[in-house]
Amino acid sequence: MQPTLYRHPHGITAVDAEYLYPGHAAAHVIADAGRAAFVDVGTNHSVPYLLAALEELGIAREAVDYLLLTHVHLDHAGGAGALLRELPNARAVLHPRGAPHMIDPARLIEGSKAVYGEERFERQYGELVPIPAQRVQVAGDGERIVLGGRTLELLHTEGHARHHYVVVDQAHASIFTGDTFGISYRALDTEHGAFITPSTVPTQFDPPQHLASIDRMLAYRPQSMYLMHFSRVTDVPRLAARLKEQITALAGIARAHQGDADPAAGIRADMLALWLTLARAHGIRLSDAELEQALAGDLELNTQGLIAWLARSKGKGPS
Ligand SMILES: [Zn+2]
Repeated sequence: MQPTLYRHPHGITAVDAEYLYPGHAAAHVIADAGRAAFVDVGTNHSVPYLLAALEELGIAREAVDYLLLTHVHLDHAGGAGALLRELPNARAVLHPRGAPHMIDPARLIEGSKAVYGEERFERQYGELVPIPAQRVQVAGDGERIVLGGRTLELLHTEGHARHHYVVVDQAHASIFTGDTFGISYRALDTEHGAFITPSTVPTQFDPPQHLASIDRMLAYRPQSMYLMHFSRVTDVPRLAARLKEQITALAGIARAHQGDADPAAGIRADMLALWLTLARAHGIRLSDAELEQALAGDLELNTQGLIAWLARSKGKGPS
């Protein structure tokens, strides 16, 4: 079991969670003064890689104090129950709206099967291990967590999911953003830096809240954002501007197709056209087909999420 590690400053290491394909999802380890935490953990299939990463980093399993689970989407938290069995002193820190679903994952399983289908669910996530309630710590907005010598602040950040928080490491000008600062694959980096797209996956995408959450993070003036998909980005003000423009654009695309017989086809096509235009402007040299393939999963899930948002906002008028 050979984990792929990316070592960043300030005791931060990204571990490839080996979800779907290498370079897609990163769990992060924060090590400080002999103690450690994971920020997001991937799926059941990620667990052996995370344990091997601890070994490679020289961190004892007993030294892990927290699993900071930014939200309960299964690519972030699906492996938490299985991982906790191996980490005797760790607690799972969860948003109050997320905690019940990790203690009793029945609704989470049902919801994920609705998104992915039964067969793909089984293959991607396996059997979810519930987290015992006594190992869950519910985190309020602004809650502070002490890890070794550093203090981490947890901010509730709706927009991608209502039960999402991010982890602010203010002393190191870093924020662990889960999915609230979008998706940025290193394979799409160019001489202009990182390429970024928002994640509007089902079922709780909310454009105004998402924009507000990005502004809230920016107020901390972070120099590094650590994304699950995929790890560290800098140049934060530029990326934030690109993300906010796209969140607004994708909401507009969804509205433009809400009366279509097949809104999914129109939304997906317009999203792809937008991303191809942005990718060209960014100097990405992949062919259209290669780029579509690189973003295929996001196109599919974002389209589903935008349709779910349209359905939810029906009757509420424009927001
Ligand atoms: Zn998510």
